[in-house]
Amino acid sequence: MSRRILIAGNWKMHGLRSDLGFFDALAVHAGKSNAEVLVCPPSTLLSAAAERCAGTAIRLGGQDCHTGATGAHTGDVAAVMLHDAGARYVILGHSERRSDHAESSSLVCAKAGAALSAGLTPIVCVGETREQREAGEAFDIVAAQLGGSLPAATGSGIVIAYEPVWAIGTGLTASASDVARMHAFIRTRLPEPATTRVLYGGSVKPGNAAELMALDDVDGALVGGASLDIDAFASIIATAG
Ligand code: PEP
Repeated sequence: MSRRILIAGNWKMHGLRSDLGFFDALAVHAGKSNAEVLVCPPSTLLSAAAERCAGTAIRLGGQDCHTGATGAHTGDVAAVMLHDAGARYVILGHSERRSDHAESSSLVCAKAGAALSAGLTPIVCVGETREQREAGEAFDIVAAQLGGSLPAATGSGIVIAYEPVWAIGTGLTASASDVARMHAFIRTRLPEPATTRVLYGGSVKPGNAAELMALDDVDGALVGGASLDIDAFASIIATAG
């Protein structure tokens, strides 16, 4: 079963309206790529980005959502609001949210349910810390995060991103053999293993993307820092052909 490569950019807390020209340049690369190309800008830019990307192959996503659809939750954004602004995906359970906001897997699971109900595809992030890897716990941690973060009726309408925490924003990347082993393991834990895309994230850049994307169980990349640079992001996209 072939799974279309997904190259997703996570802009984190970067991006102003003056950066919207990025999408004009990206549209050229997305339009000729075999990969699905996704950018998750800050929610303040979603509507303007959606207008800018209309008619292009670029897809947009949010970086988090609330579990509810409306309510007294100052500062939060509902999944349905992201969808209304033009998002079709949402990153959930990113390690920065799990650590900065103490998000548990059960909260991520509830958010994923809300996202699915709103018509968004959740990209659920899992990954071990350096201490956990060194203690030989990486597989147990990832299994527990998957078990706790995926709603029961997920089917294949979900994307997983394996992001070893120690590789995010550090310039360190997991070795191809470690990534291959973890992705094969993750696939054994999925309700719809043949059709669910599993992305790798953690310092993906032009110099390592081709090797990582060539691995059997790697169906794309979640890219942080390099997604802010059009040349770097375009050359990562190009590895998908
Ligand atoms: C991320 O934010 O999900 C990420 C993988 O960041 P970076 O590519 O900068 O390591």
